[in-house]
Amino acid sequence: MFSDELLNISWDDTTKAIQSKTANDVLRALNKSGNLTVDDFMALVSPAAAPYLEQMAALSRKYTMERFGKTIQIFIPLYITNSCTNSCVYCGFHISNPMKRTILTESQIVDEYKAIKELGPFENILLVTGENPAKAGVDYIARAIDLAHDYFANIKIEVMPLKMEDYKLLAEEHGMNGVICFQETYHREKYKTYHPAGMKSNFEWRVNGFDRMGQAGIHSIGLGVLCGLEDWRTDMTMMAYHLRYLQRNYWTTKYSVNFPRMRRAENGGFQPNFELSDRELAQLTFAFRIFDHDVDISYSTREPARIRDNMASLGVTTMSAQSSVEPGGYHTYKHQALPQFNVTDDRTVAEVVAGLKRAGREPVFKDWDNAMN
Ligand code: SF4
Repeated sequence: MFSDELLNISWDDTTKAIQSKTANDVLRALNKSGNLTVDDFMALVSPAAAPYLEQMAALSRKYTMERFGKTIQIFIPLYITNSCTNSCVYCGFHISNPMKRTILTESQIVDEYKAIKELGPFENILLVTGENPAKAGVDYIARAIDLAHDYFANIKIEVMPLKMEDYKLLAEEHGMNGVICFQETYHREKYKTYHPAGMKSNFEWRVNGFDRMGQAGIHSIGLGVLCGLEDWRTDMTMMAYHLRYLQRNYWTTKYSVNFPRMRRAENGGFQPNFELSDRELAQLTFAFRIFDHDVDISYSTREPARIRDNMASLGVTTMSAQSSVEPGGYHTYKHQALPQFNVTDDRTVAEVVAGLKRAGREPVFKDWDNAMN
């Protein structure tokens, strides 16, 4: 399990190692062919790499074109419930917030699917829940997946970490194609302060959830760190270690990485401890592409339109569009609930598509599809 491997990786030593990287380390990483080591990744996210951003961008663009061509996969998230038993201090859905909770009924879920199809030719959907296994558990998620098949070709979930058997059940008997899970931060001690109570306070259960996904033979696994909690360079290095570990152990799986930036004054009043500038976000994106040529790099609508359009030709391969981050937000409770976070890119699907085309990209709504016209 990855938690065992992580015990041998010191957070503080990793931070020191990143900070001590030199220009020579950066150049050595940039001149390597093939996939890089985590030590190379550390050089690319280090302060020493900042002067080499142009070279990194060119290399990232080259590898992205070689592996993915001009395509950007487009998906849309659907929050089916904001009911949650956790206490994440940075999230408006935390259990102590006296907000209205919603668990969409089956007919409401179908209404949402229909409303999404009216927005654009989406085939990739991400079903998102809070974490309340008693009220919206595996059976509920399975039913939402079953209902989605009439509308979408590719169905992923972002829900509480599950048992291996449950992942297997959802994949094999309900046709779920992939799972995204945010570790949020790999800093084991600080993790407890951000997740003081509830199921999510168990660091090991969450971080080993990715092993359970791999053991269940999940086709696509997405890892995620929430930028703003801990030193981004160290946290991303931990995610790079995790990615390599999973690739070694579950090598038939396709992987994606997600690193949304927390904004100031989002729900819950939590302010980020560390901020990632636009330049640093670019550096991080290039570093991941150069580190791993095949990994999907996903940007959500947390990022502004200008950055998403720019980065679409420089490393990013998957994007959401016209996202609602509140349950039932496309139809049933449009603009009535509290969103989980603030959407910064609020363009319509057509506007996102037009922006990507201006950037020379081909937005793709399903694997075998061509661009939206
Ligand atoms: S981040 Fe997820 S688990 Fe935590 S409170 Fe929000 S919805 Fe619940």
